[in-house]
Amino acid sequence: MASETQIHHEPNRKKFWSLKDFEIGKPLGKGKFGRVYLAREAKSKYVVALKIIFKEQIEKHGMHHQLKREMEIQTNLRHQNVLRLYGWFHDEERIFLILEYAHGGELYGELRKSGHFSEKQAATYILSLAQALAYCHEKHVIHRDIKPENLLIDHRGRLKIADFGWSVQSSSKRHTMCGTLDYLAPEMVENKAHDHAVDKWTLGILCYEFLYGVPPFEAETQRDTFKRIVKVDLCYPPIPHVSAEAKDLISRLLVKDSSKRLSLQNITEHPWIIKNADPSGICEN
Ligand code: AMP
Repeated sequence: MASETQIHHEPNRKKFWSLKDFEIGKPLGKGKFGRVYLAREAKSKYVVALKIIFKEQIEKHGMHHQLKREMEIQTNLRHQNVLRLYGWFHDEERIFLILEYAHGGELYGELRKSGHFSEKQAATYILSLAQALAYCHEKHVIHRDIKPENLLIDHRGRLKIADFGWSVQSSSKRHTMCGTLDYLAPEMVENKAHDHAVDKWTLGILCYEFLYGVPPFEAETQRDTFKRIVKVDLCYPPIPHVSAEAKDLISRLLVKDSSKRLSLQNITEHPWIIKNADPSGICEN
């Protein structure tokens, strides 16, 4: 569609967008509540992803407030590793979200394709995530649903956190049970109050999954996964491409006592990150 140079200008700030302002391209994917299309703003030719959500679906699932919250949170976040939401508009039946286009698609797809990532790639993604989460925490935003499916890759290989559907803007401890099974922290499994420390646990899970190709507490049944999480039943298969430093970082994040998990700042300074991560966040395979 557009050339590289055209995507350096954001769509003009405009109060009221409508479908007429966009040229719609190929479908990019299908989510729980609608479809995502490649699109460009007609005037500036700026390339975006247009997410179309059907109001009926949102109302049927009582998601109105959650979507509104997701939109408000995401519009206010500005970080190179957080997917931008430039704006939104609606017609009678649909809501349209104007999103930053992530050319590389889902990180999950890439992980499944290659089986596992190299230490360099994994460390670069973990550093990007730690920096993005530190920024979100500063703004009192807890994501709560960080998992490979919610991580996208842009045209330069930079990781972008997308889908703020489960995030909350709060500085106090939360009680709601949410998130995807394998990524749940023990305090969430046990239905205890939890705070931003859950994101640090998730970074440990992701780091493991990036390197080994599977999440650490995977089991046959949901109950068994829960049991393994609560016990922190962690084992490292003897795979030569995973270094002792990587395991050290994982072990300092997958800690049951949430107050003892490594801080996001300390993650960025961990020897394995320093040795392997590309500080630009750009990952070329
Ligand atoms: P979602 O409804 O957010 O789960 O999106 C459905 C699928 O569309 C995702 O799994 C991605 O493959 C794709 N997608 C969503 N947002 C974007 C985006 N901003 N850029 C590129 N692809 C996207």
